[in-house]
Amino acid sequence: MHPTPDYAAPDDAETRKSIAPVICYPVETLPAPDLASYRAARAGWEKVAGLRVPPREALAFEVPAGHFFRITSVEGPQVGDLNLFSADLSERFYSGKTRALHGTHLSRGDRMWSGFPTLRPMATITEDTLDWYGIDAFGGSVHDVIGTRCDPYTHCLLSDGGQYHHCCHSNLTRALAAARNLSPREAEALVHDVLNVFMCTGFTRDTGQYFMKASPVRPGDFLEFFAEIDLLGVLSACPGGDCSSEHSSDTAACYPLGVEIYRPASAPEGWAPPAPNRYDRSHGL
Ligand SMILES: [Zn+2]
Repeated sequence: MHPTPDYAAPDDAETRKSIAPVICYPVETLPAPDLASYRAARAGWEKVAGLRVPPREALAFEVPAGHFFRITSVEGPQVGDLNLFSADLSERFYSGKTRALHGTHLSRGDRMWSGFPTLRPMATITEDTLDWYGIDAFGGSVHDVIGTRCDPYTHCLLSDGGQYHHCCHSNLTRALAAARNLSPREAEALVHDVLNVFMCTGFTRDTGQYFMKASPVRPGDFLEFFAEIDLLGVLSACPGGDCSSEHSSDTAACYPLGVEIYRPASAPEGWAPPAPNRYDRSHGL
């Protein structure tokens, strides 16, 4: 947020402010996913697993490389917080760099990138039934990588010591601990900033504050991914429900989320699992 200025604007302030921005990371040099090939591979695919994430809880699911998975809206509008790990837990989704590469909100054709040093696509988004939403008049859009995940620590700070145990951070921690037989502390250290599936968010123009509004998602909508490497996904059905009013409490109407996993008859034409990043890691030493 911006305070009332203490300092007078210099004479050339308007000139400085009127300079046009440049894109930090032009992605023209990134190899674009061959979406037509990915989508063609869905013909004749077989659904191999399906689960329902209960409201205010999280569940883990395995997706082998070369399979697809869908996160689906069922019963009512509901936001999901997604963590992605390599199956061996050595790689985790890197929300910040994904944002720098693809923008504040993800859709079809965008990738979910792993952190350093591998920095490679973990999953590619191949279908998004909310792609019609675009960017609304408030600057809001869906599937953001700008929020982090609702968590009990921030809630405690902002509510004078309140204790709430079903924030997405805690849900993800419990589900990861159960899936990999980790202690809660071990699992918590691996939980990371999420992809906010179906959540509608942005930054206010006047104060630059993070905002949310009622998700436009409806039962039947889905976001579809192709697993580039062997994945462990963990999905939390956020206690905020459609995130129209508040999270970190039991007051919002919450619904389950569906997860479906599909095995294609054959791999997308020309596809190979992405290699780890080729930087030599010498750091100039
Ligand atoms: Zn949440």
